[in-house]
Amino acid sequence: MNAPAEFARAVCPHDCPDTCALRVTVRDGKAIKVSGDPDHPPTQGVLCTKVARYPERTHHKDRLLTPLRRVGKKGEGRFEPINWDEALGIAAERLGSIARRAPEAIVPYSYAGTMRLVQGESIAARFFNVLGASRLERSICAAAGAAGLRYTYGASLGMHSEYYDESKLILIWGANPIASSLHFWTRAQEAKRRGAKLIAIDPYKSLTAEKCHQRIALRPGTDAALALGMIDVLIREDFIDHEYVKAHTLGFDELATRAAQYPPSRVAQICGIEESVVVELARAFGSTKKASIRLNYGMQRVRGGGNGVRAIACLPSLTGAWRKRAGGLLLSSSG
Ligand code: SF4
Repeated sequence: MNAPAEFARAVCPHDCPDTCALRVTVRDGKAIKVSGDPDHPPTQGVLCTKVARYPERTHHKDRLLTPLRRVGKKGEGRFEPINWDEALGIAAERLGSIARRAPEAIVPYSYAGTMRLVQGESIAARFFNVLGASRLERSICAAAGAAGLRYTYGASLGMHSEYYDESKLILIWGANPIASSLHFWTRAQEAKRRGAKLIAIDPYKSLTAEKCHQRIALRPGTDAALALGMIDVLIREDFIDHEYVKAHTLGFDELATRAAQYPPSRVAQICGIEESVVVELARAFGSTKKASIRLNYGMQRVRGGGNGVRAIACLPSLTGAWRKRAGGLLLSSSG
């Protein structure tokens, strides 16, 4: 007879904005089922497929259980299993011989797979520090955007994802939440059911973009121009919340001067879209009280990407969308 199941609470260790709460079913000391905690508001009882099948993956017969050493040429795909002492010995010998000559020749090029205190940044950082290795800006993929956001808002601030379902217009900018921000997408779907318009701003026709009312397929790397064009229209057609701008922002005049260099006609050429698309987008954003943006890191992985984030982050401050809890922007509130 099977031992009775026990239940444990856990948190997903992935580097993912949702930080789902997990309920793990354990029998005979083995995790047999993982599900989302229905009592945790962001999780709402639902996990992405990757983590929902964790037990299956963990216990799969094909799972790699020992280190492998390549025995053929690169690309031949021939490996043999070795034990951990051998594997660690090989790595230590290689790293050691480089470190004895010039430790800075070693660059730990990595970021987060699974996170938190032990696996995230703790032991590896200490190890490479002692070794004297070169140091790398740890976020390979998001540093420019994170810096842009800090320059604009002073910190990694953003909307609560729970409030997006009250938005009336959501710009999903450089983001593919069906794949990478599942719980935000659930909220966006609810907003859509309540009559919100969803606009994807993305050169790539992602699964998310296909499900939005409109997709603006701008040329890759031209997001800052589109945002400046929107700002130009917002100012010229006076969609500005002057009271909010006066009370809560700095540098409006300088921004207006800069944006005036990006009229919709010029932006249309830079972005490879119709002039009317720029104007209509600005008008929609400016005239909707609960207008929100779900920005993601896809758009900042280009030269000037940090400034692109800065320009986009100005939009809800100019229109006063921040006054509403369902208005504003979320890139990341990490840290
Ligand atoms: S959506 Fe998936 S990866 Fe992200 S926190 Fe939830 S379970 Fe983890």
